[in-house]
Amino acid sequence: MLEKMDKDFVLQTYGRNYVNFKNGENATLWDENGLDYIDLTAGIGVVSVGHSNTRLTNAICSQANEIIHISNLFLIEPQAKVAKKLVELSGYDMACFFANSGAEANEGAIKIARKFGEIEDEPKRYKIITLEHSFHGRTITALKATGQEKMHNYFGPFPDGFVYAQNIAQIESLCDDHTVAVMIELVQGEGGVEPQDKSEIQELAKFLKSKNILLIVDEVQTGIYRTGELFASNLYEIEPDIITVAKGLGGGVPIGVIMTSHKDILQAGDHGSTFGGNYLSARASLEVLEILSEHKDSGDLDETFIYFESKLKQMVARYEFFQKEVGLGLMRGIRVSNDEILNKCVANAFLHRVLVLKAGRTTLRFLPPLTISKSEMDKGFERLFEAYDKI
Ligand SMILES: *Cc1c(COP(=O)(O)O)cnc(C)c1O
Repeated sequence: MLEKMDKDFVLQTYGRNYVNFKNGENATLWDENGLDYIDLTAGIGVVSVGHSNTRLTNAICSQANEIIHISNLFLIEPQAKVAKKLVELSGYDMACFFANSGAEANEGAIKIARKFGEIEDEPKRYKIITLEHSFHGRTITALKATGQEKMHNYFGPFPDGFVYAQNIAQIESLCDDHTVAVMIELVQGEGGVEPQDKSEIQELAKFLKSKNILLIVDEVQTGIYRTGELFASNLYEIEPDIITVAKGLGGGVPIGVIMTSHKDILQAGDHGSTFGGNYLSARASLEVLEILSEHKDSGDLDETFIYFESKLKQMVARYEFFQKEVGLGLMRGIRVSNDEILNKCVANAFLHRVLVLKAGRTTLRFLPPLTISKSEMDKGFERLFEAYDKI
């Protein structure tokens, strides 16, 4: 019934699993038949504090009882508080713009870079270098910024001015008089859970600073403690010009943020958003930041990383079709020998009621809630062993 309704009335842009989840608690979900699933995806890195987190739910409900939305033409108390908290926790001297998604945050970041290139220099600079295998979102410009040719098959003409580097080392040689910014993920997510080399990134940051070229770090997936610090940029010990944030920040409530140290480039009227950072999403994000910064400070987050990694190592040791574990923190993957086996890994996990993801063509990907418990990890991996013993 529901499956037919979905197929008849919803555009079929996703390869959907027809399971009807009814409720959840932390990293566990229950379907309409009361069967439990272990969620190692957190809704693609979104449900950072787990499903139906009591503190987040209470914050959302009490905010909804007061005000959900006014508009950005008025002061929004929780928005100012989230901005302050993001700046303080990051240690970066930045200010924030609020949007609704990762792609939208990246669009705004590109607008800041383009305006910077117009007002700073003659001739004006506009080129933005991104990496092959990157992912920056689905709007026309974010899609063009995404360095995957297969995603540029339709939808043209695209905006000009994007240049793709094969790797970090090649970026320097691609910079010319027209280059205004470089946009990268520090751990490529969709591209295959591929962390960049720290010293290479630090060298790049130094080079870009010397050329007055902006460094934009897309932290849509890596941000909000996913790799261990508030931002992967903190972990890599660099100071980007612009950071974009989305997925994990709202704990499931849509929000995107652009943070930048260039606080005066955008002036009144240059950019805007109807919904961005409204009372509901900002209040939710404030609570998420409080929950996760406490989780980090208590040492619990780092303990979870270590335990999760030990489980991944056991898996890699047990199956010959697994090559190695990759990634950082709770943004993890396992390289699989080929894509046919990878598809089986995802499908068999689902049959054994564990949710996992793919990334790139050969990476089994894990993005569990950062609050996942030890017993949920035990149960999840136990089921994965059963599932993969059959491959
Ligand atoms: C998911 C993702 C995006 C796009 O975010 P949306 O909220 O889907 O627009 C952009 N960049 C990175 C690195 C992502 O992982």
